[in-house]
Amino acid sequence: MALSDSEVSGGYRHLDTQGEALALPVGKVVCVGRNYVAHAQELGNPIPKRPLLFIKPATSVSHWSEQVAIPQHLGEVHHELELAVLIDKPLCRVSQEAAVEGIGAVTLALDLTLREMQSELKAQGHPWELAKAFDGACPIAPWHPLPSSEWLKHAEFSMHKNQQLQQAGDTGLMMWSVAELVASISQYFTLMPGDVVLTGTPAGVGPIAVGDTLQAQLGDLVRLNSEVVGA
Ligand code: ZN
Repeated sequence: MALSDSEVSGGYRHLDTQGEALALPVGKVVCVGRNYVAHAQELGNPIPKRPLLFIKPATSVSHWSEQVAIPQHLGEVHHELELAVLIDKPLCRVSQEAAVEGIGAVTLALDLTLREMQSELKAQGHPWELAKAFDGACPIAPWHPLPSSEWLKHAEFSMHKNQQLQQAGDTGLMMWSVAELVASISQYFTLMPGDVVLTGTPAGVGPIAVGDTLQAQLGDLVRLNSEVVGA
């Protein structure tokens, strides 16, 4: 028996800022580790020569709105605040120009990470999926249409936790620009309409717990006030 969309994606649909569902399926989420030098340094990681890519499945995606749900029994959950872009055209081995034309919308997402488990897996040379691809590992805020290709070059975003500034990012400080990153990803993984790319986290990652409040902002496009709840 075929599963419905909501069963496949855990109930997640791509929504715009009016709460309307977009006519795109929920696909994979391709993420990049270490796209900001200061974040690589805070975790003691070397600067990579090419984008360090990993994938979160559609089942890891959840809504980030007034509430954001995190697992409670898997150890410490860290937030990684990232600019997310929504792909709306098939992209297979494309140029940077074509990559940008395939981006339909932007927003903020959290690359939730079970940091203790990730450290253990890394120490053993094992893949990261358990720490990064679990159900609910990718809360995504409502999507806003991409204002322009220029906008992608200087987008600023930030997040306060319990009124304290935690992370602030500027796409101008990325090692790989959004265009370079999406083009590079498409050399390895074909991106399909409904797929999402997370563009890396700036410095300031840290734990979040049930009861914390998060205020996040992406330029003047997206503003969120949310409370962390148990999944
Ligand atoms: Zn990340």
